[in-house]
Amino acid sequence: MDFGLSDELVALRDTVRRIAQDKVKPRAREIDETNEYPQDLFELFRDAGLLGLVIPTEYGGSGAGILGLTIAIEEVAKYSNAAALMLLLTRLPTGPVLIAGSHEQKRQYVAPIADGSQRAAFGLSEPQAGSDVMGMRTRAVPDGDGGWVLNGTKCWMSGVVQADWYCVFAKTSEDPSERRHDSVTCFVVERSWDGVEVGGTDRKMGVRGVDTGELLLHDVRVPASNVVGEVGGFRLAMLGLNSMRPVVAARGIGLAEGALMYATEYVQERAAFGKTVADFQGIQWQIAELATEIEAARLLTYRAAALADEAKFTKQWVPFLSMAKYYATEVAVKASNVCLQMLGAAGYMKDHPMELYYRDAKQLTIVEGTSQIQMGLIARGVLDRDLWWG
Ligand SMILES: Cc1cc2nc3c(=O)[nH]c(=O)nc-3n(C[C@H](O)[C@H](O)[C@H](O)COP(=O)(O)OP(=O)(O)OC[C@H]3O[C@@H](n4cnc5c(N)ncnc54)[C@H](O)[C@@H]3O)c2cc1C
Repeated sequence: MDFGLSDELVALRDTVRRIAQDKVKPRAREIDETNEYPQDLFELFRDAGLLGLVIPTEYGGSGAGILGLTIAIEEVAKYSNAAALMLLLTRLPTGPVLIAGSHEQKRQYVAPIADGSQRAAFGLSEPQAGSDVMGMRTRAVPDGDGGWVLNGTKCWMSGVVQADWYCVFAKTSEDPSERRHDSVTCFVVERSWDGVEVGGTDRKMGVRGVDTGELLLHDVRVPASNVVGEVGGFRLAMLGLNSMRPVVAARGIGLAEGALMYATEYVQERAAFGKTVADFQGIQWQIAELATEIEAARLLTYRAAALADEAKFTKQWVPFLSMAKYYATEVAVKASNVCLQMLGAAGYMKDHPMELYYRDAKQLTIVEGTSQIQMGLIARGVLDRDLWWG
């Protein structure tokens, strides 16, 4: 058993660490306050080759895989979860295409993500269908020429404003209230097509700078060649999300590490009762507890990333993948809370990044399957003996 990273991954981590410290850290507060998309960071990531980490070399990426992306996101999330989200969006919408798309779809839609000439977003959620994805109402009906006509509204879509294309799921069954898995199909929809419109954007508590919002689809004609995988391939949504668990988890461990490093430096400087705050055992135990939980979350996350890179994201691997997402994002929420408290009043003020970590962390336990949904999946794995120690 080898717990070390390869030389290539260590080099990647060190490079991204420098970029994050020199370029991302100084921009984090401004991105939050202006709520403006950080185009400069997008171009920086493009020039550093970070947009193609998870994309195979034959489609212009570097082939560093989910583990490579996970490591890069961990570094960036130490300072800005909005910037980390920009990297995550190189995989979330491309995932289904990479898993089940045709060579032509990968060439046309995935390759431009690697060189930054296009961006994409992922549309699964609808106002009445978040966790309960089968409650979606977006419909695709045959157009009579082999293609499809899509109608519906997707919501809370990260990166919806900047995206050039969308990975969208719609009901293809005759009865839109059908809940069978083969009633849903995955499509690539281009932003420039007639009937595709970005609706309202959300006023968010955190991860500002990369908008979430609505995608409105009105009589959008989609050619048969833009069906990803097979008609009735809802399973693809789950495979895509399963393989994303370590990538979301990385946003959590990076945030927790950033918060703990900042708070540790602060309490070592802060004088109280003739000592520093770091001299109190109560504070040391909080540092120890968080450090242990962060390392546990990292181990779960790196293992999940390694599994995903081996295409182990089908049902029997789900508990291992969901554990990483569940645990790392809950650790992020806890770390941001405990570390803010360690700074006292200073933690509550915008002069320090703690309140930003605190606001950013909370979305991580909600997106791409809430903590409750992950726990349901982990429990199902144990009940079905996919995870068993006997
Ligand atoms: C910042 C942000 C960005 C997002 N980006 C995207 C995106 O890019 N694309 C996209 O498609 N979606 C996106 N989402 C939507 C996200 O995936 C959903 O919010 C999430 O799946 C939860 O759905 P919901 O909000 O409708 O909550 P609900 O499903 O209404 O759940 C409400 C509460 O009930 C709990 N609950 C629900 N079902 C169960 C159950 N079976 N057992 C126990 N508890 C349960 C949930 O855990 C939650 O606490 C984003 C959301 C946010 C906040």
